[in-house]
Amino acid sequence: MTRRLTRGTKLVVASHNPGKVWEINQLIAPFGLAAVSAGELGLAEPEETETTFAGNALLKARAAADGSGLPALADDSGLQVDVLGGEPGIYSARCAGPTKDFGIAMSKLADAVQAKGGWAAPGPKANFISVLCVAWPDGEHRLFEGRVDGHLVWPARGGNGFGYDPMFVADGAEQTFGEMEPKDKYAISHRTRAFAAFKRDCLEAGGAGHASGPNAERDEAGLAAAAANISTREELVAFIANLRTDLVRTSSRGHPSSVDGYLDALQSWLADGAAIDVQEPKWRTIAKALLAARSHV
Ligand code: IMP
Repeated sequence: MTRRLTRGTKLVVASHNPGKVWEINQLIAPFGLAAVSAGELGLAEPEETETTFAGNALLKARAAADGSGLPALADDSGLQVDVLGGEPGIYSARCAGPTKDFGIAMSKLADAVQAKGGWAAPGPKANFISVLCVAWPDGEHRLFEGRVDGHLVWPARGGNGFGYDPMFVADGAEQTFGEMEPKDKYAISHRTRAFAAFKRDCLEAGGAGHASGPNAERDEAGLAAAAANISTREELVAFIANLRTDLVRTSSRGHPSSVDGYLDALQSWLADGAAIDVQEPKWRTIAKALLAARSHV
């Protein structure tokens, strides 16, 4: 019988990418899994030495499961552009360099497409791939793949999402992933499709899932996990967009909040230096301050 992750199971989300951690948390929250991110546990980010998405997903899930003694879920994903022979592929994240600047990564990609003469309308064919791996500390693991086909546009459009979202248009859509509301991206994304396969095999029935609409609960676990992984200005900007979406959603469902209450809580959190780690990257501290204040209004 397939091994399942029952409600209440603590699951490590084995990613140091705040955008992905937040999205994965959104997907698993309705199934009652208590998510904790690799960053929150202080687990190091393993080097991605494999040559396939599956190999790297397994490597990350295995490192987190072994390092924490808990089941771990990792995703390895990327963008594949046909005219570039599938590049950037497993190198999608690394193209953004150490500062994880996807403005630069997207420009480099646009230049590479241009060099291949690929910018004729409607734009070069591309796809996003996501391979999810769940690994248990006893050595077992399972892999699941999801894919969304589409094409690239240039210049990039939209400030939602993360990574290459602003230059990708899925088949059947007109907006880029960067222009779409998060819920519309989730409805069709590669990660959601990989997750659907993972859900069928490993989760208990009963989760509401995204397709049935956002739930009324605040997304404390997802946002906390994302805040713990922020290291660049762009990631903080994306985090604030997700925080705002969550605030608007829950304000209309019984969690009203006010700006003065928020600022009051922000001031208290910052005044209480105990919560602040002076070694921490400052973008991450700002995200944590915003999140801590939100919990008190
Ligand atoms: P990794 O799986 O952490 O190695 O990184 C995958 C990289 O692929 C990300 O850093 C993004 O550059 C890109 N990517 C994966 N999924 C998405 C997505 O949903 N939107 C935009 N970019 C993505």
